Amino acid sequence: MNIAIDGPAGAGKSTIARKLAEKMGLIYVDTGAMYRAMALYMLRQGIDASDEAQISSACDAANVSICYQDGSQQVLLNEENVSADIRQEEVGNMASSISVYPNVRQKLVALQQKLAKDADVVMDGRDIGTCVLPDAEVKIYLTASVETRAMRRYEELQKKGAPCNLEAIMQDIKERDDRDMHREASPLVQAKDATLVDSSDLSIAQVTEAIWEICRKKG
Ligand code: C5P
Repeated sequence: MNIAIDGPAGAGKSTIARKLAEKMGLIYVDTGAMYRAMALYMLRQGIDASDEAQISSACDAANVSICYQDGSQQVLLNEENVSADIRQEEVGNMASSISVYPNVRQKLVALQQKLAKDADVVMDGRDIGTCVLPDAEVKIYLTASVETRAMRRYEELQKKGAPCNLEAIMQDIKERDDRDMHREASPLVQAKDATLVDSSDLSIAQVTEAIWEICRKKG
């Protein structure tokens, strides 16, 4: 069984997908981490996000793969574990910029499809139900209001003691949504056969329960 969870940044996809995978004994695959690893490579090479030709050709030299340590997904970039480095804000923004390019997507989609062929997965991203796993048994479109998502990110950064500004975070989320939803290659849209779950007023436990129930009904 494959479960596809798509939705905008900050809707809670990774937290929910991880919990669901644990509960159902499936492998959790975070596809955003792969775009981030590719973005880290481009940043390290000093390639400008707007230079499609250079990014497209540099893709060939960036070997992204994943492995699991104590059940947790690790992302490798040319065999180096970059799981911590890819969490920086700068890398997330670069990932959002370069994910519009078909070459970047083709390479990572092939990796994601291979992973789902080899194991039963809960995969989260932006185009899983529409493009990567069109035959997934369960498809969820998980969303939340911009305000809720910005507040969650703000609280997360505050907890880490990182400097943060709610207005700036909200602006960043809106820009990322706009890029993800309006790009030409595999834009973020709800698949026709996906179930919409709005997590704005729900706890993590409630969202997990709601999706678990959808999976149960699908057998
Ligand atoms: O989910 P996360 O915020 O880590 O993803 C980083 C960026 O990678 C997103 O803003 C999105 O542009 C891109 N992405 C994508 N397709 C996916 C997963 C992520 O385009 N399946």
